[in-house]
Amino acid sequence: MTEQTLFDTEMVKKHDRSGPRYTSYPASPFFTEDYPMAAVDKALGKVANSPLSLYVHLPFCSALCWYCGCHKTITRDRNRIDRYLDDFEAELALIAEHLGHRHQVKQLHWGGGSPSYLDDEQTTRCFDLIKKYFDLDPEGEISIEGDPRQLTPKRIRFLKDVGFNRLSLGLQDFDPRVQETINRIQPEKETLPLIPAAIDAGFKSVSVDLIYGLPHQSRQSFDETLATVLQVKPNRLSVFNYAHIPNIIKSQKMFQEADLPIAEEKLAIFQSVTETLLSAGYRHIGMDHFAREDDELTEALDKGELQRNFQGYSTCAGLDLVALGVSAISYVQGHYWQNTKGLKDYRDMVHAGQLPIKKGLTLTQDDLVRHEVIMTIMCGMGLNFSDIENHHQVNFKDYFQEELPQLTDFFADNLLKETDFGFEVTAAGRFLVRNIARVFDRRLNNSSRNTFSKVI
Ligand code: SF4
Repeated sequence: MTEQTLFDTEMVKKHDRSGPRYTSYPASPFFTEDYPMAAVDKALGKVANSPLSLYVHLPFCSALCWYCGCHKTITRDRNRIDRYLDDFEAELALIAEHLGHRHQVKQLHWGGGSPSYLDDEQTTRCFDLIKKYFDLDPEGEISIEGDPRQLTPKRIRFLKDVGFNRLSLGLQDFDPRVQETINRIQPEKETLPLIPAAIDAGFKSVSVDLIYGLPHQSRQSFDETLATVLQVKPNRLSVFNYAHIPNIIKSQKMFQEADLPIAEEKLAIFQSVTETLLSAGYRHIGMDHFAREDDELTEALDKGELQRNFQGYSTCAGLDLVALGVSAISYVQGHYWQNTKGLKDYRDMVHAGQLPIKKGLTLTQDDLVRHEVIMTIMCGMGLNFSDIENHHQVNFKDYFQEELPQLTDFFADNLLKETDFGFEVTAAGRFLVRNIARVFDRRLNNSSRNTFSKVI
């Protein structure tokens, strides 16, 4: 029996609670409105000459996938994208002005929405606008999220020629019944060839996104999807846990709750995914990513340079993240801020000469300690107490005297294991690592907020 098969129904019940995905700490619901521009300027002023990570949010999609929790706008009117690019240019000029001088960008990521919904002209324009204000590192990671329904091998070559060198494709599931239920039809015979096409075009890493926990999925059906994907050997796979929060994401009300796999089945699906991918030579990265041994994400894990942010897991820990476009969240020098989500608001603010920031948070000293603890657990699946002590001049056991006893159940259930230096998350514990990290989340534990999805 493998370590991962140790979940029984009682354990699932005990640990199946809701909590953040810890793409930030504190989680974004704790950001506050009217965040002062002085804090933003102070943070940007500290960036000095360092290279940056840049995120660009392109919110448009042609049709709504019922499960989707992204910030998106569904439209068939491509003129809206042109107008958005006008606004984006104004935001770029403003952020460049606040930064004070040209910066090199080591990591650029286009997310959405569907960045591949931009037509060729719009894609080139958006890319050129970024180059007008920033220097792209020729060795940098320049990535784009692609919707297979908008891509062909020819279009993939075009994206490579524009300057992208990393591609992630949203596959989700190949089961036709699941695709129909989630309102996202993308037949296997059109989608699968895109992966070798991207590798042939010269993309250095091709990543595939799958989602488990969707209606009508079972361990067996998901195993079949995974086996199909493995025929073309992507460099990476992200296997996301579907977050069912229909009170917040209204389109999820299209699903019958009875069609969703129960918690035990979800654990069985993910357990099977893990076993299959490990035996196919992939490494488990963080909570839900898998990468081939030669992939830079694996390298980043081994070098301690893996980070977790709003794009999931990525390389280049330590770079300041400047995020542009509606709803985008920046993390610069211990300050988070989030742009407004409204397209009109965004337009009005940038054309009035104002950065379109809606809310933010300056991390306190306590937040910074907990940020490192939580991100280290989420990325490295363990914690060395003396690292925290050295970085923050605290005595770990004294500082976390309230939290440490709350880990007792995790040790007892073989989800955590003591080490000479602290603890490590076991293979079974990875399934519940959000719960383990949550123990150290003072903001959440001191509040009555419950807007987060179930951990399982
Ligand atoms: S899943 Fe992607 S394509 Fe579908 S609605 Fe969401 S952002 Fe758009």
